[in-house]
Amino acid sequence: MYPWLKNLINIVLPPRCLLCGKILSGENGLCGDCFSKIKFIGRSICHKCGHPQLSGRCVQSCPLCTNNHHNFFRFQRSYIYYDEQSRPLLVDFKFHDKTENAELLAKWLYQAGNDIWQQGADILMPVPLHRARLRYRKYNQSALLCKELAKMTKLPIDYTSLIRIKNTKPQVEFDGKNRKRNVKNAFIVKNVKAIKGKRIVLIDDIMTTGSTLKECAETLIKAGAESVDALTVARVIKS
Ligand SMILES: [Zn+2]
Ligand SMILES: [Zn+2]
Repeated sequence: MYPWLKNLINIVLPPRCLLCGKILSGENGLCGDCFSKIKFIGRSICHKCGHPQLSGRCVQSCPLCTNNHHNFFRFQRSYIYYDEQSRPLLVDFKFHDKTENAELLAKWLYQAGNDIWQQGADILMPVPLHRARLRYRKYNQSALLCKELAKMTKLPIDYTSLIRIKNTKPQVEFDGKNRKRNVKNAFIVKNVKAIKGKRIVLIDDIMTTGSTLKECAETLIKAGAESVDALTVARVIKS
């Protein structure tokens, strides 16, 4: 956008805090008060699964990773905790058409993905919605995040190679074990050639138990992807 046009828009429609609506002087997305309430995951994490470490140190592999023999991920990363404070930012974005949140959320994805960009990646891929759900919701929030993130990473986006063939019930209706069952065999790779040997970064808004992301990763790895990372804005962290 032209700088003069941007200035004009900022005078007529000044940027507002995405959480409380307060007028902002800069373009940070959130006012100081709201920003200070967001809990960031930070750098003290497990290098593999990205789970925050209470010790305050980075570890190569945490107990969660050591006990998990079916790990299809290279890296898993998230930027913030999914909690009372961050929930409106993500829920409004996902369900209430507040698509303007995508820009800030994608900036956070970019920062959380530092290790991924350094190691190298080939494709960004949104977690797909079933076409019936997409028709109902009108947009896929993960695809919007990919679009913004692609501007920063310069990576291509693949919207079509991974397909959701089962219109599963929303995961919020299930607990851990049943979540896994709910998404079992929910995805297929439609275009094997496009993903073969590729390092794929799966993008989503929130990771709760990770069942959906795991199912996608397993499907992609079995179809011949070289590696799969999971990059989400927020993550549910059980204390
Ligand atoms: Zn605010
Ligand atoms: Zn770990």
